[in-house]
Amino acid sequence: GKKAGRRQVIAFDPDMLGDERHRRFVERELRAALLMDELELHYQPVFGTDMRVRSHEALLRWRHPVRGMIPPIQFIGIAEESDLIDKLGEWVVRRACADLAVLGTPVAVNVSPAQLRRSDFARQLGAMVAEAGIDPTRLIVEITENVPMIAGAVEQANLDAIRTLGLKVAIDDFGAGHASLQYLRGFAFDIIKIDRSYVANLGDNRIDAMIVGAICDIARSLQVDVIAEGVETEQQLEKLRLAGCSAFQGYFLGRPQALSRLDIASAA
Ligand code: C2E
Ligand code: CA
Ligand code: CA
Ligand code: CA
Repeated sequence: GKKAGRRQVIAFDPDMLGDERHRRFVERELRAALLMDELELHYQPVFGTDMRVRSHEALLRWRHPVRGMIPPIQFIGIAEESDLIDKLGEWVVRRACADLAVLGTPVAVNVSPAQLRRSDFARQLGAMVAEAGIDPTRLIVEITENVPMIAGAVEQANLDAIRTLGLKVAIDDFGAGHASLQYLRGFAFDIIKIDRSYVANLGDNRIDAMIVGAICDIARSLQVDVIAEGVETEQQLEKLRLAGCSAFQGYFLGRPQALSRLDIASAA
């Protein structure tokens, strides 16, 4: 149609990345995407030590009318520079709450530190959860760290309020971020997700194996769960089990899929 034609002209030229005009263009397209229902959540299963599906992580996808499926790395960073990230975040929570019943497991949503900076974030989240009528203990908030999270009073109050609501909080990409160890001191949380860069080299890097073991030890002491992400081989899974991880996620076990294509027999 006419709209798609307009979009085609300047759509996502990679040479324009980092360019201010490109940023504004993506922002405008994203606002349109929200209105025109171009966003989707794909779900990736997380397995417990018993190898049963214990939760799913919701991962945002953008089905652009011209560009096709756009991964979040191409637009989350731009959304984080404005109120767009809050709008996207709201859409994600509403969609995930609606999908919870079908999934039959708890669901983890990704939340940017930029959202936690808003003083009414937890209150709005609580309102959405109440409106959806879901059990709040079935929603997990993963704090990603694409932008460094300041362990400030507002962030801390939001995380406390989220846990008071009954939701669980996970620290995402643990070990890869700007301030992982500081988070351990500054925040109360329920789950650590070991960054997949440590999992990737588990076979041949002794230091990475030591770090994974140390993170598991810390998690045990704190009595929080450890999810290993990016598990791509059986050997990695074996090493992670031995190290004491409590849950596993990765292409070896299951890829992110649209809800309609997900095999949810194990969760029924
Ligand atoms: P993340 O939260 O660390 O999500 C895991 C990413 O690793 C996903 O990429 C997933 O598809 C990918 N992955 C899963 N298993 C494997 C594996 O075995 N090997 C490899 N190499 N990769 C694997 P995706 O979906 O492209 O998302 C990238 C990032 O975008 C996420 O990283 C998260 O930080 C961000 N993101 C995704 N959805 C949202 C959202 O709704 N809100 C926000 N704020 N950020 C989101
Ligand atoms: Ca995540
Ligand atoms: Ca992660
Ligand atoms: Ca990440």
